[in-house]
Amino acid sequence: MKNRYSIFSLARNALSHHEKWDRAWRSPEPQPAYDVIIIGAGGHGLATAYYLAKEHGITNVAVVEKGWLGGGNTARNTTIVRSNYLYDESAHLFEKSLKLWEGLSQELNYNVMFSQRGVYNLGHTLQEMRDIHRRVNANRLNGIDSEVVDARQIKQEVPIINTSPDARYPILGASLQRRAGTARHDGVAWGYARAADARGVDIIENCEVTNILRDGGRVTGVETTRGTIKAKKVGIVVAGHSGVLADMAGFRLPVESHPLQALVSEPVKPVLDTVIMSNAVHGYISQSDKGELVIGAGIDSYNGYGQRGSFNIIEETIAAIKEMFPMFSRMRMLRHWGGIVDTTPDATPIIGKTPVDNLFINCGWGTGGFKATPGSGWVFAHTLATGEPHPINAPFSLDRYTTGYLVDEHGAAGVAH
Ligand SMILES: Cc1cc2nc3c(=O)[nH]c(=O)nc-3n(C[C@H](O)[C@H](O)[C@H](O)COP(=O)(O)OP(=O)(O)OC[C@H]3O[C@@H](n4cnc5c(N)ncnc54)[C@H](O)[C@@H]3O)c2cc1C
Repeated sequence: MKNRYSIFSLARNALSHHEKWDRAWRSPEPQPAYDVIIIGAGGHGLATAYYLAKEHGITNVAVVEKGWLGGGNTARNTTIVRSNYLYDESAHLFEKSLKLWEGLSQELNYNVMFSQRGVYNLGHTLQEMRDIHRRVNANRLNGIDSEVVDARQIKQEVPIINTSPDARYPILGASLQRRAGTARHDGVAWGYARAADARGVDIIENCEVTNILRDGGRVTGVETTRGTIKAKKVGIVVAGHSGVLADMAGFRLPVESHPLQALVSEPVKPVLDTVIMSNAVHGYISQSDKGELVIGAGIDSYNGYGQRGSFNIIEETIAAIKEMFPMFSRMRMLRHWGGIVDTTPDATPIIGKTPVDNLFINCGWGTGGFKATPGSGWVFAHTLATGEPHPINAPFSLDRYTTGYLVDEHGAAGVAH
């Protein structure tokens, strides 16, 4: 890779007062035609471009983005990464991703700040604990690290959590994945962008796709706000706007777009060194390296494309966090925001072919796609390069909604859809 980042390049650039660093990626004009166009420069689209170039030698690729790269859900999520999903199909997909995360900073020569600080999924009722046992057993059968811990063990490792039996929803135990954790979301987009650009991929920002061009039943390119661009193959990776792009190509998706909110507190000294998630009270929390508490909510129940949400969701989430961590009751919240997530009926993504030849789609990650960024890009690159899904993403085809072979992960998704 050009301009490797290292202690030596840092020292060399210090001599010129850090004024001579190369740009991390170019800003090219769109070419008239490409082998592959990827619509959407979020983490998933950029990872797809990177693996197309690296794994398949396909470098005549453009990633077209209506805004700025990483400005969508990639930069808006709460960065939780884990692979402890229930069904074999999902477990293989998310575990592939987790394995890629484990070497990603070295591979991209970019610090994505992947921190394996562990993730607890709390159980508050007997039935939740039974489900946790079932999922942990299923994870282990798939070779995924996963364990059940009781309230006493949680209290030992997270002393500030409220495990009192008098709580409205007392904590009975949790599943714990120790290899899980968090990563720096922008860093992931920037790292993939830089590495894809270095391999010749054109990343074209401020370039909104307004139509998908077809000849008969085959895709031929896209119309954009910067002109028409032809392509042999096109991949749609636009998260919350998947339904809009599918509509342009003349088919419908079983996807609903919902706002999903997050918020951060004022920064405080290190107080929470792991990730806590609770489906029952509906909040999840970790602490960023800056010291802010990063708090996630459930989706707003209405459909929409506005990147904001309603106040009652924030109120309910804060109430849940306060119940689990009474000591946070006097913390001030610094800012909050929303993203648009694309939810499917079985809380599982769609990665594969569409009814239009040579047009492929990667969507439906809902509230949990950040953790899948590397694996999603890896399997989608295979699908685009070969025209067929990889065995890992074959179960996630669009036609499962007609065959009925759903992969229902509502229990493991972490946030209610
Ligand atoms: C508040 C919040 C918290 C979340 N927390 C987590 C979490 O803790 N863990 C987890 O795993 N997941 C989480 N998620 C989900 C995760 O962020 C998404 O599933 C994932 O980021 C989606 O993939 P992406 O990164 O490629 O999407 P995006 O970053 O949204 O990329 C899609 C891109 O497509 C572009 N686009 C749209 N339409 C067009 C067009 N017509 N032309 C060109 N470009 C277009 C958009 O501008 C956008 O940049 C969270 C999401 C939100 C909103």
